[in-house]
Amino acid sequence: MPAVPAPRHNSPWVIDTRTLGRRPGTMRTLRIAVPLDAPMGLDVLAVPAGAEVDLDLRLESVAEGVLVSGTAAATAVGQCSRCLIEVTEPVVAGIRELFAYPDSATAATTEEDEIPLVLDDRIDLEQVVRDEIVTALPMAPVCRPDCRGLCIQCGGRFDDLEPDHSHEILDPRWAALRDRLATETPESTGRPPAGPGE
Ligand SMILES: [Zn+2]
Ligand SMILES: [Zn+2]
Repeated sequence: MPAVPAPRHNSPWVIDTRTLGRRPGTMRTLRIAVPLDAPMGLDVLAVPAGAEVDLDLRLESVAEGVLVSGTAAATAVGQCSRCLIEVTEPVVAGIRELFAYPDSATAATTEEDEIPLVLDDRIDLEQVVRDEIVTALPMAPVCRPDCRGLCIQCGGRFDDLEPDHSHEILDPRWAALRDRLATETPESTGRPPAGPGE
């Protein structure tokens, strides 16, 4: 028989279900805020370490185990995928998971790792919540739906630039270069214009 992983009794994610009992139909609610010791999400957008995940869950005793349903809510922080400024994104993930009793038919007929178990009368919510939060996060967050991103020529945020931002007219660096080219033509200097690096 494979070794059963030891439950992490001290983790805030681990909930003692003994008060629920094993009589099917019994319910209890669970409203807790769990601080993260590691980010939950992706590089571009994640609930940062130190932030809290608000769990609003219902624990229900069923014949095969403990059915957990409700929501996990948090605020993710990341970067706009278009203009790269910091964005904060509220995320609410739906949770619905059966934690099976190790001696139940569900546990016996399911591959290991495919279903969480009630171990030592406790359920560990972290992996379930992590999976649902990551799934609920947008892959390409934006600061607002119509963010216009960055100017491809100067890298400026279009939101920070003049409404008619354009390099032919407004950018002084390009204007200076144009003026210099105009004065350094062979006709005006009598010699070819200097190349780059000379
Ligand atoms: Zn943006
Ligand atoms: Zn520009």
